[in-house]
Amino acid sequence: MPDRIAGLKSLEEVAKKCIRCKLATTRKHVVFGEGNPTADIFFIGEGPGKTEDLEGRPFVGRSGELLTKIIENGMNMPRGEVYIANVVKCRPTVDMLMTRDRPPDTEEIEACSYYLFEQIELVSPRVIITLGNPSTRFILNTRQGITSLRGKWHKYNGIDVMPTYHPSYILRNGGDKSPLKKEVWEDIQKVLKRLKEPA
Ligand code: URA
Repeated sequence: MPDRIAGLKSLEEVAKKCIRCKLATTRKHVVFGEGNPTADIFFIGEGPGKTEDLEGRPFVGRSGELLTKIIENGMNMPRGEVYIANVVKCRPTVDMLMTRDRPPDTEEIEACSYYLFEQIELVSPRVIITLGNPSTRFILNTRQGITSLRGKWHKYNGIDVMPTYHPSYILRNGGDKSPLKKEVWEDIQKVLKRLKEPA
């Protein structure tokens, strides 16, 4: 346990000074990730948005509010009990103008992958929940889309992976009234059931 905390801490120190890709030139903060270093559940998002870039913490904007509700109300656990990180640690924006967000490109994902791989290795979770296409495709090394991958179990390095919709996709598709919420609910119930089974 102290090894994990120290390992994550020193990895974060390295990430904070990272200049492996062009996002280093426009970021306000490196958004390394946060949570329980011994979490059973490891959420992976896409990349920081405006609020995350300003605060240096993952999922603290609008989609973060929804993710927090999913964890606290849907999974019935404090947010601090899970670990939350992104595929890229710095905010990708259209034309690097810091106005509109965009998904990370292949070069940025490639450059940043070291940090996520190390985080997963250190936390060593029982289940990874990928949120949306970029993280799912990256972790499962596939071009398939989230709609066909979600709700089914997959593996990454021997760890169970459950892909589900990204909270921002739910917000763009009806928010609280979105039919996608029910599907996310079903996906997380599968995760909770798996965690009750012996490791
Ligand atoms: N969207 C993400 O994918 N990650 C964040 O941290 C915030 C929004």
